[in-house]
Amino acid sequence: MATSKSVCVFCGSSDGRDPVHRDLAQAFGAVLARENLRLVYGGGRIGLMGAVAVACFEAGGDVLGIIPEFLTQREVMYDEAPTVVVPNLHERKRRMAEEADVFVVLPGGVGTLEETVDVLSWAQLGLHAKPIIFLDTDGYWDPFFALLDHQIEQGFTPAFARDLVARADDIDDALARVFAAPARAAE
Ligand code: AMP
Repeated sequence: MATSKSVCVFCGSSDGRDPVHRDLAQAFGAVLARENLRLVYGGGRIGLMGAVAVACFEAGGDVLGIIPEFLTQREVMYDEAPTVVVPNLHERKRRMAEEADVFVVLPGGVGTLEETVDVLSWAQLGLHAKPIIFLDTDGYWDPFFALLDHQIEQGFTPAFARDLVARADDIDDALARVFAAPARAAE
């Protein structure tokens, strides 16, 4: 059966200290497979990225990894799953965004932040209307939302930007938001 929607996941290339984050990534990967949702992600086998992809692929899910040539060793390209090698980070990000119906953000570092803020700034400029959903079960992203609120309060970010990002505190909530998102074909 063809997958119903493509979920682009941004998350860490590290595991982080708290095992709750890796558990979340694994659980979410398995749920994507179960729900017949395609995973689009950064193509590596390490950290939370690897956890979500391996869990999805091993549960029979549809996975598309997109990795720049220079990171195939460092991020340990997941050869078993379908993976596209692109020339650079810009192309990775462009291709991930193009393939996505919706973005889901799990815990991660500056790379995750960069990718997320990029799609948020594109949405703010009206360049796409794809939902951006933070799946955050333990408040990891609280400081990010505090910064966003601060920027809005200080008049540097328009208030509507807050409505461009959703917060889900469990997988079921995130899934409901994914299913509520329009599919690309319908755009
Ligand atoms: P991190 O959250 O720092 O572990 O990074 C998560 C992922 O984001 C890694 O696969 C990084 O290679 C990737 N990444 C970092 N910066 C960028 C960027 N500017 N464009 C695309 N991917 C990036």
